Amino acid sequence: MKKKSNKKDLKLKFDTTWEYAPAPESKDHVKINTRYDLFINGKFTAPDSGKYFDTINPATEAKLASVADANQKDVDKAVKAARSAYENVWSKMPAKERGKYIYRIARVMQERARELAVIESMDGGKAIRESRDIDIPLAAAHFFYYAGWADKIKYAIPGADSRALGVAGQIIPWNFPLLMAAWKIAPALAAGNTVVLKPAETTPLTALKLAEIIQEADLPAGVVNIITGAGATGAALVNHPGIDKIAFTGSTDVGKIIQKAIAGTNKKYTLELGGKAANIIFEDAALDQAVEGIINGIFFNQGHVCCAGSRLFVQESVMDTVVRKLKDRMETLIVGDPLDKNTDIGAINSKEQLSKIRQYLKIGVNEGGEMYQSSCKVPSKGYWCKPTLFTNVSQSSRIIQEEIFGPVLGIQSFRTVEEAIEKANNIPYGLSGGVWTDKGSKIFKVTSQIRAGVIWANTYNKFDPTSPFGGYKESGMGREGGLHGLMPYLELAE
Ligand code: NAP
Ligand code: MG
Repeated sequence: MKKKSNKKDLKLKFDTTWEYAPAPESKDHVKINTRYDLFINGKFTAPDSGKYFDTINPATEAKLASVADANQKDVDKAVKAARSAYENVWSKMPAKERGKYIYRIARVMQERARELAVIESMDGGKAIRESRDIDIPLAAAHFFYYAGWADKIKYAIPGADSRALGVAGQIIPWNFPLLMAAWKIAPALAAGNTVVLKPAETTPLTALKLAEIIQEADLPAGVVNIITGAGATGAALVNHPGIDKIAFTGSTDVGKIIQKAIAGTNKKYTLELGGKAANIIFEDAALDQAVEGIINGIFFNQGHVCCAGSRLFVQESVMDTVVRKLKDRMETLIVGDPLDKNTDIGAINSKEQLSKIRQYLKIGVNEGGEMYQSSCKVPSKGYWCKPTLFTNVSQSSRIIQEEIFGPVLGIQSFRTVEEAIEKANNIPYGLSGGVWTDKGSKIFKVTSQIRAGVIWANTYNKFDPTSPFGGYKESGMGREGGLHGLMPYLELAE
């Protein structure tokens, strides 16, 4: 007898995503105080203003802690503490002793890595996989790397007598809170400076945990001071006459304000500003590998990355294939709870940033762009943006020219190598880029003609403390990382 086929049973369901069971990282080992004061002269000190602001978890909108809002008097106190520590302790200490303290900070950071990763994800919204595997290990690696430099600086610059600048004022953004603090503090200390650091308003918690680590490492009081607050606190730091150097990472607009504010003063400065990186895929590239790199380059950390590959140029003959593969891969991305180990894309950092991204999505559509978003579900509370791509955009589109700082990719085609280079360079920014091809000669041609500080070939978003990082054009000036990153904290006498 012929067996009756059960079409229903036989029908395979080709769901594009697997349903993973929730795998949340535990919060049990994490301690967040209800209130944080300013870290000045080795102690947590109540702010002169008496004011505190809330930092929230952007994935739940729940308040995490109250954080002190530093005013001008607090900034003054912190700068004076840093000056006194510089003159009386840090500049008198042998370089190899300074190095030992920096190593100690690195080791305590490693010991407390899990706690730091969870707090980074809670305060800023990034997926735990990133804070755990990228942000925190790289932050510790920067302290280890620069600890090693402390007693070798005089050998690294033959014939020149180098000395520290004094007190560095450092201002950082919210996209890599602890990593940016490490980029700033580690080289400054290794070069013999003391610092006053201001973290971003929406992500102050890991910097305050770093203050606890600094206490645990017994760093002499006043060598590192951490003051929380909003833009006004940053401006007070920039304008304080007791500062010898400003190290700023943030938007190009604020970078310009800082440049104007310190013009005509003796203050040295480095500015790490915005970006609008181009990825270029040639027809001879390994396309699946390239698609994976593009996905990583723009959706990693919700696109809150200065070097995010937010523009994509694809050689015309493979345009349709690449766009199809990108859409397929976007469908498999998991957007949601940043503390879940399966999450690819966490929460947008703040309500303000989400509304800025949404405005750009509208602008893109109004300009005639064709928008595609993955069909994933997003939680009802919190700030979320689905991975998005735009086709049918032109060089003059605002979503191609302006930094969105969200998970939004603009795709255009090209025919020749020259056209790709010209289009990639047609932008006020020059921070980073990527090229995907099987041919070494194309890699050399493209990387030597694109005006950007970092260009990756057949990979993307790779960082290492030994490698300098920084921009051309409106992406800033000066380099961080490697030996280059020490130079802006040193004065050289012939
Ligand atoms: P932002 O608005 O410029 O803020 C950066 C920092 O400056 C924050 O701590 C901010 O405080 C403070 N600030 C604001 N106004 C100030 C003023 N007038 N004077 C002194 N400080 C002031 O930038 P964001 O939105 O936080 O960060 C995103 C930007 O950073 C993007 O453009 C991105 O490309 C750039 N970025 C660049 C790099 C790089 O290496 N090139 C790396 C990461 C990010 P509040 O938090 O209170 O506003
Ligand atoms: Mg927060």
